[in-house]
Order: sequence, then structure tokens, then C-alpha cells
Amino acid sequence: MSQDSAPMLRVNKIGKDYPTEGGVFTALDELTFDVAEGELLCLVGPSGCGKTTLLRCVAGLMKPTRGEAIVDGTPVSGPPEATAVVFQEYGRSLFPWMRVGANVELPLRRLGLTRGERRERVTEALDLVGLSGTARSYPWQLSGGMQQRVAIARAIAYRPRLLLMDEPFAAVDAQTRADLEDLIRDLWRRLGVTIVFITHDIDESVYLGQRVLVLSSPPTTIRAEIEVDLGADRDQVDTRNDPAFAELRTRVWGEIQAAKREPSHGKRV
Ligand code: ADP
Ligand code: MG
Repeated sequence: MSQDSAPMLRVNKIGKDYPTEGGVFTALDELTFDVAEGELLCLVGPSGCGKTTLLRCVAGLMKPTRGEAIVDGTPVSGPPEATAVVFQEYGRSLFPWMRVGANVELPLRRLGLTRGERRERVTEALDLVGLSGTARSYPWQLSGGMQQRVAIARAIAYRPRLLLMDEPFAAVDAQTRADLEDLIRDLWRRLGVTIVFITHDIDESVYLGQRVLVLSSPPTTIRAEIEVDLGADRDQVDTRNDPAFAELRTRVWGEIQAAKREPSHGKRV
């Protein structure tokens, strides 16, 4: 991480309370961290710890109760122009009545490009995710893994500076998931985009990330920060067999187990 340049993302003391019948439930409590420009950061934490809540605050889809997110120097007050998001439910994030090409093109309308420029970006993005020639198909004609590739193509066609991903591969089979992980590493290296990748999968966080932040249970804070010194060239077999990988996943696993053992002190006041 470069300390000298301004971060691409600053999460500054973000807190989020949800109203409950009896009062409020504090999901996030003073979360603070920076993501450097060009970094690939993984956030890992137990189910229900507030990962999606945090992503929604950063993506400008929800207002935090306290604190703020700052993207590229500008406090977030709605979806930031430099940001694209890939969600877990590809089935719900693509429009079934629109062809693949039209789905990828949709967010580009916001950018004031000509039709020709939009088409060019769609073709390029579909090529990059290995889906050349599918522009005229409908999403439901494709497998789950391919649909998630369409969602990724849609995000990168937009050429975001910050790409937020919320458990994007949780619903696909293991082999597809491995391919998609490698796709993300490949796109990240080629495009130089800053990525925040949220997952509950420990191995995935270590395989993908340059750095892993482990979240606690609610009210959620950062429990641990782990640098992943596995080098830039990662391989599904060699990297995962590397003793350094085993050591890192054991550390992350230990932190998550400890987080789960903590009494859930989510203040349900
Ligand atoms: P994660 O993505 O890590 O699984 P979420 O951000 O979805 O976690 O949820 C964090 C906590 O906040 C959970 O306990 C969840 O039940 C609660 N929560 C999420 N959304 C709401 C909501 N709209 N109203 C009340 N509680 C919510
Ligand atoms: Mg979630």
C-alpha cells in the first residue's frame, strides 16, 4: 500500500443502526480503513456481520448512521460515478428481457457516450470475460457462471476506478468459482482497477487478495488485517498448495472462529 497518495476509498468511522421492534440494532460500529489506488482488498467475515451493509454504504445505496465513505476524495452521497458493483444474485441483477449486450450497455448510458462507443465497450468487455459472441443471447440462455461473467462485463465496460464485489461467486459451483476467481485476478492486473472483494470464504479471500481485513461480529469492527505475501502470479493448484497459503488461511480462520465465539454484543437496546 502506498502511504503517500490519497486512498481510492476511505471508510471513515462508518456506523449503521437498523431499527428493530425494541429499539436499534447496531450492525456496524466505527469501521475505519483505507484502500489504496490499484489495490485488491478482500473483506471477510461471518454471515450477518454487516458485509453487505458496508458495501451498500460505500456504493451510495444506503446512508450510514454515522461516519462516511470517501471515494477518490469525494464524500459519498449517492452512487459515485467512479464505482461499479457486482452483487451475489446474478439472477436478479441482470434483466431477463434484455439481451446480454443490452444488459452490459445499460449503465453506459449515464456516461454520455455515442452509440458506437457504447457498442465498442460492450464488445471489448464481453471479450475480456471470455464471452465473445454472446451479445445477442438472453441471460437465461446462459449458465450461472456465464451470467455472473455478464455481470462482471457490465461492471468493467463502465470502466470504474473502484469495483465493489459482494460475495459474487457464492452461488456457483466450485470449478466455475475457481475460473471466476482467476478472471478477477486477470482483470485486476490488466485494468489496474481498485477492487474491494467481499466474501465469507476464507480460502477465496487469501487466494484473491493482496490484503485481507477480517471483520468481527456485530457491532462490527475490523478484527484483523493480514497482508497476503503470495506474489502476483497465483495458480489454483500451486498457490493453494503453498505452505504460506496454508499459514495465511489458518490465521484468517482463527480470527473468524474467535469472532464467532464472541458474544454477539450487537446492541439491541
Ligand atoms: P452480511 O452481508 O455480512 O451477511 P448484512 O449486512 O446483510 O450482513 O447484515 C448485517 C446485520 O444487519 C444482520 O444481523 C442483519 O440481520 C441485519 N440487517 C440487515 N439489513 C437489515 C434491515 N434492513 N433491517 C434490520 N436489520 C438488518
Ligand atoms: Mg451479505
